[in-house]
Amino acid sequence: QYRSRSAFKLLEINDRHRRFLRAPDVRAVVDLGAAPGGWSQVVAGFMGWQGETRANVRTMQRSKQDDGHWGLDLDAPSQHWGDSAGDADVETGGRGVVIAVDRLRVAPMPGVHTLQADFLAPETAPMVEAIIRAKANPDGKADVILSDMAANATGNRIHDTQDSLDICHAVWGFTSKHLRTATSIGRKSGGVLLLKHFEHPELQQFREIYLNPNFHHVLYIKPDSSRAASREGYWLCSGFKGVIGTGNE
Ligand code: SAM
Repeated sequence: QYRSRSAFKLLEINDRHRRFLRAPDVRAVVDLGAAPGGWSQVVAGFMGWQGETRANVRTMQRSKQDDGHWGLDLDAPSQHWGDSAGDADVETGGRGVVIAVDRLRVAPMPGVHTLQADFLAPETAPMVEAIIRAKANPDGKADVILSDMAANATGNRIHDTQDSLDICHAVWGFTSKHLRTATSIGRKSGGVLLLKHFEHPELQQFREIYLNPNFHHVLYIKPDSSRAASREGYWLCSGFKGVIGTGNE
């Protein structure tokens, strides 16, 4: 079983949108707000990491197929994994690393480096970068950044929506410096950001200032598997261009 219901949202988003998580050049994925670890499980499975993770991906696909909701062809067997140069043999492990960051503990799983830390603390980003350098990409760049972070609801609506916008700003700050661009060494295209957000009066402005100009495509997504009443939505941003002045242009 997956560790969270959120895992289905990520599977759905990936299925519908070019399967961005399955690209063979995805070697470093940063999963922000990862606990209990459903998204990390999904991604590590796509990267060919075995154990609990891959078995679970298969189970999930069967059930999707049974209820007729999702396509059949999601998880091809191992020949699809390990098909780019330098990939580890699928029998001995996957390629690259998922870095799972959360204030809460994420129990270990294959292919996932867990980092129990507050993402908003200034020391966290350099730690994430160091792990990418050591385990996947020597230039310290992430291929994909996922954020499912949600601040703890206090019940005060103004406070809570503000927290959610603050999280978007913090994730954008990290992305602008650490997401790969098309000119990053050995890459042909810019990286992908998937960012959860909650309704806020300034969200549209946030998108227009930070996301639209800096990615080739920005898509608003409300997954079917996200409860209709929930005020959450996601932006899937692909083809990161890099931002002048950040050292990542
Ligand atoms: N995607 C996860 C999964 O599939 O298991 C579920 C994520 S849950 C909806 C949101 C998470 O964001 C919580 O575990 C919470 O602790 C984390 N979070 C919120 N603010 C955070 C912060 N500043 N730093 C680190 N984690 C944070």
